[in-house]
This record gives sequence, structure tokens and C-alpha cells, in this order.
Amino acid sequence: MLNIAIDGPAGAGKSTMAKALAKKLNIVYLDTGAMYRGVAYYVLQRGVDPADEANVIPLLDGIEMDIVYENGQQKVVICGEDVTPYIREHNISMAASTVSKIPAVRIKLVELQRAIAAKTPCVLDGRDIGSYVLPNAPYKFFLTASAEERARRRHLELAEKGVKISYEEVLEDIKARDHQDSSRAFAPLKATEDAVIIDTTSLTPEQTIEMIMSRINSK
Ligand code: C5P
Repeated sequence: MLNIAIDGPAGAGKSTMAKALAKKLNIVYLDTGAMYRGVAYYVLQRGVDPADEANVIPLLDGIEMDIVYENGQQKVVICGEDVTPYIREHNISMAASTVSKIPAVRIKLVELQRAIAAKTPCVLDGRDIGSYVLPNAPYKFFLTASAEERARRRHLELAEKGVKISYEEVLEDIKARDHQDSSRAFAPLKATEDAVIIDTTSLTPEQTIEMIMSRINSK
């Protein structure tokens, strides 16, 4: 199956690359971060702290998640409700990172990710795709960039959406998420030995996609 894994920390350019790649290859883009964001949203809606494992776990059985595509756009549907419009809120980012530390949450979502990848050629972006979800994926990329550059990109993206937040605050959040995502015990963020590592700090999106395409074409 044509499955392309793109992992890396927040703001490294994963979603931009995954979207562009999926379009070029005419395959699906599966944004796995959106799934963790969906769970975080659901948990917060029920007044539960995403760090409170004992109270998050009983909620999991009630989460019926469907990933659907409308005009090529991925939607996260939970128990029939499209939660996509709410999961990009700034406070959901850290909540998603926190809830994603819970092994039972990961196991539930990884199962769904593997089921989709087994029947659909797709580009998946996340933190653990190459290392845990699809260790046998034929193509694995790990994108990185300096924390400052990633914060600059994320700050710009938020500003374009009208979110008022300082660059320093975004940088702090990025560093906190990096630390939490790389230090968790279960399926942490890390590059595998067989992944192609690309530092995008001083690359344009066009240059990055070119590097990825040339690796795919040369294999
Ligand atoms: O990629 P995105 O920023 O939307 O992901 C939100 C959070 O979800 C990440 O900070 C990470 O903790 C978690 N995540 C994960 N594994 C993935 C994708 C996302 O743990 N495969």
C-alpha cells in the first residue's frame, strides 16, 4: 500500500507538505493530529481535565470517531457531530498533546489510523507514524526546524486567522509541546533510522516538496 509517513514537531511544515504531496500523487491526506485534537475537544466539552487519565479513560468508549472527506477536506466527526471547526483553537493544541500521552487514547486512535491506511493510499502526518503506527511504511520523512522558526510560522498562521497572541507565547507553547511530545513514555515523537530527515528552517515549501518528491521518485 502506498503509505507515506511524515512526522516531526509542531510547525515543521508537515501538514503543508502532506497536503501538497497528497494532491500531487492524487491520494488522501490523513491528519492524525486532528484526531487527537478531536478527543481533546470532546474531553474538554465534558468538563474533564485532559491530564486526568482516570476520568478520560471512561469517556473513550463513548467516542465514536469517523474520518470523512468533503471536497477533499478531512473532517473529524464524533458521534455524528462535525467537530472540525473547533479543533484548531489555540487552547486545543496543548490539550491534544496532554491527552495524547494517555496510552488508551493512542491505542484507540492508532487502530483507526491503521485501518484507514490499510485500505487507502495516503499521506499521514503526525508524531509516531513511522515509528509506531506504520513501522513498515514504504516512505518515511521526518521534518524539523528550529523552535524559533516554527514559532514564527505558527504565529503568522494564527495572526492570519485573527488570533491575538504574542510570538513569545507561541514559542513557549511550541517548546512545552515539543518537550511533552518527545518525553512521553508511549510512542514519543522521534525520527526512526530509516526516515529521511529534512531540516526546513531555511527551506521554502517548494524546496521541501521537491526534496521529498525526488526521494520518492528515486526509490
Ligand atoms: O499535529 P498537531 O499539532 O495537530 O497535533 C496536536 C497534538 O496531537 C500534538 O502536539 C501531539 O501531542 C499529538 N499527536 C500525537 N501523535 C500524532 C499526531 C498528533 O501524539 N500522530
